[in-house]
Amino acid sequence: MIVTFKRPLIPALVAFIIAMLILSMPNTACAESDTTLGDANGDGAVTITDYTLVRLDILGLKSLASAYRVAADVNSDGSITITDYTLIRLHILGLKSISSGGGLPLSGRVIGIDAGHQLHGNYDLEPMAPGSSTMKAKVSSGTQGRFTRVPEYVVNLEVALKLKEKLEALGAVVIMTRETHDVDISNAERAMMMNNTPVDCWIRIHANGNDNPAVYGMCMLVPAAGCMNTSDASVVTQSVSLGQTLLNSAASAAGAKNNGLQVRDDQTGFCWSSVPVCTIEMGYMTNETEDNLLVTGAYQDKIAEGLALGFITYFTD
Ligand SMILES: [Zn+2]
Repeated sequence: MIVTFKRPLIPALVAFIIAMLILSMPNTACAESDTTLGDANGDGAVTITDYTLVRLDILGLKSLASAYRVAADVNSDGSITITDYTLIRLHILGLKSISSGGGLPLSGRVIGIDAGHQLHGNYDLEPMAPGSSTMKAKVSSGTQGRFTRVPEYVVNLEVALKLKEKLEALGAVVIMTRETHDVDISNAERAMMMNNTPVDCWIRIHANGNDNPAVYGMCMLVPAAGCMNTSDASVVTQSVSLGQTLLNSAASAAGAKNNGLQVRDDQTGFCWSSVPVCTIEMGYMTNETEDNLLVTGAYQDKIAEGLALGFITYFTD
């Protein structure tokens, strides 16, 4: 009895160990993304020679949430050999060092984009800042075109997706809070998504509304001193610099009236953020001219182009 029980235990143990090894390996989604990298060396290492493919790979891995690979071994010719498939979240830090040798202007930069609002507002309350007793709606439904009737959340996402495409073409890794309308992500949650990645900085994309249809122009909201989710005062300074740079560039590219910066201490998306952030108000959907412009692809392209160029200025100046 003892012998017959002990012997089957050995193959059972081996099977268990093999199962654990398989479970600890990169999953199918990860393996699929490997094929986009090219140049698999057969030994598990992958040589990357195209930074676009690096970006695609990282975006593909996004669904793995906390499971990412570390890239290492930057080669003298600028390519990277991945030898470490350790599943940790530090890949973004790895990417920064990878792309420092890259040729694209935003290589190595990780930029967040939040398309403001969503299909349905969520008027449950959340603290405006960590530990704050001031409560605000999780996410409102936003404004709407007074003349076009197009909802703000639609315009916001259209511009956000155009900006994403341009930033990626410039070499950046882009992290989006949403890419569809039917989501339920509070303003605090959006900020935490950016903190947790982490991104180098992020932009919240909105359009404005006003009871007076004559009011028009573009402006940028930036966090007030002391109201962010960090004791590092330089994050506020960087936010203001980011906001000013992006606003000037976007207003110039779009030919919009530049209404300047608005310093705000009441924005949940700012108060929860521990990384530089600003909010563009692209124009007034209650003004006939701007409402009609904001829904067109051509005008959205100009804004996105201006913002993308602004990011280059921000990171290089
Ligand atoms: Zn808005």
